[in-house]
Amino acid sequence: MGEKENVFLREAFRSYYEKHSLSIPACSEREFGIGDFGKKIVKRHMEFKGEKELNMFLRKEVPPYISYSAAYYERPSARPMEAKGFLGSDLVYEFDADDIQTKCKEEHDSWQCSDEKCGASGKGKVVECPKCGSGVKVEQWFCSECLGEAKKQALKLLEVVSGELGFDEGISINFSGKAGYHVHIRGEAVRGLPQSARTELIDYLTLNGVDLEAHGFGRLDASALTCPVPLRSVGIAKRFMERLVSFISDWSADKLAVHGNLNRKQSAFLIKNRSVILEKMAHGILFPVDASKPETSRKFWMLLIDEALREESIALNIDRQTSVDIHKILRLPDSIHGGTGLVAKSVSLEEFKRFDPFKDAIAFSNAPVKVFINKAPEFFLGGKKFKAFLDAREELPMDAAVFLVAAGKAALE
Ligand SMILES: [Zn+2]
Ligand SMILES: [Zn+2]
Repeated sequence: MGEKENVFLREAFRSYYEKHSLSIPACSEREFGIGDFGKKIVKRHMEFKGEKELNMFLRKEVPPYISYSAAYYERPSARPMEAKGFLGSDLVYEFDADDIQTKCKEEHDSWQCSDEKCGASGKGKVVECPKCGSGVKVEQWFCSECLGEAKKQALKLLEVVSGELGFDEGISINFSGKAGYHVHIRGEAVRGLPQSARTELIDYLTLNGVDLEAHGFGRLDASALTCPVPLRSVGIAKRFMERLVSFISDWSADKLAVHGNLNRKQSAFLIKNRSVILEKMAHGILFPVDASKPETSRKFWMLLIDEALREESIALNIDRQTSVDIHKILRLPDSIHGGTGLVAKSVSLEEFKRFDPFKDAIAFSNAPVKVFINKAPEFFLGGKKFKAFLDAREELPMDAAVFLVAAGKAALE
C-alpha cells in the first residue's frame, strides 16, 4: 500500500473515531494491542486508564487495527505475561467463514501457483498446486453466503449457552470486521473459570468425544437400539432426539435411503411404518427398519445418529488449544478493521439475527472517490451491487473505495 492510500484510509478512519466513542467493560484491566496495514499486531502490552483515554488514543493515533484482551489483569502493560497479575478472563468464541466450506468459495476465491514456471491457476481454495505440488497464493473473499454460515453457527452457540448452560447475562456479539463473528460471555460466573473448565465447555459445544451410551443410546437386542426418551431428555440427548425425530418425520424415502444406506424396499417400509417408528422412538426404541437384516438396521440408525451429531456440533473455530488461550487478544468491538474498512460492530441478539455486515457495518459516506482497481470479484456493499473489476479506473462511493483500498485491491487515482 502506498503512502497516499495510507493517508486516505487513516483520515477516513479518524473521521469515524471522531464521531464514535468505543466502550469496553473493565477497560483499565485489559491489555491492548495495535496493528498496521498488512499486519494485525505490531505492538502489544498497552493499557489505558479508562475509556476516555482509549478514545483519545484512537482519534490521535488511528491504528488500522486495535485488539483487546479477553483477560483482566492488575497490570495490563507489564511484561512478561506472568508479571501482569492475571485476574480472570471472559469466554470468547470465534466463528470464522474462513474455516467453513461453502459453495460460494468456488466462485469468489482463486489461487495461483507460486512457482512462476508452472503458472497454473484456478478458482476456489486449494492448499497446494494440483499440477506441480508447489505452494499457492490464495485470493480470498467473503460474501453474504459464507458470512451467513458463520452466523448460523454463532446462533447455534447462543442457543446452547443460554438455553442449556444457563449463561443468560453478559453475552455480547460483534462482527469481526471481516469474515466472522465473535461471541463474548462476560461476568462473575465465567471470569474465574479454570482452563480445564474452559476446555470442557469447548468439548461440550463441539460434541468432541461425546459419550452416546451415557446419553441413553445403546443396544436393545439383535436389531433394535435404545435411545433417550425424548420427553424425559434434557440437553444434548434432547437435541439429538429432536434431530432424529425430524429426520424420520420430514425426510423423503430417497433421502432416508441415501443418508441411511438403505435399499428401496427398506426405505419404503420405513415410510409406510413412519408413525409406528416415531411411536417407538417416543418410548426410547429405535425400531428395526428391516427385521431380517439386523446389521443393516443398526447401521441405518448409527448413520442417522452421526448425522445428528454433525448437525448439533457447533463449528467453533478451533484448535482446542488456542481457543482456551486466556492471553489472546481480539478485535475491539466497534473498532474499524484495517483490511476492509468495515466496523467490528457490536449488536444485540435481535439485531444479530437480521445483521448484514455489508450493509450494517459501513462507516463511511457516499462521496465519490477515484480509484484504480487491480482485481475484485463482484460484491455488494451499502445496498449496492458492484460488478467484477479488472484493471479498471472507476469512481466509487467512499465506502466501496475504502473497502477495496484497505483490501489492497485498489489504489487511489
Ligand atoms: Zn504449480
Ligand atoms: Zn462466500
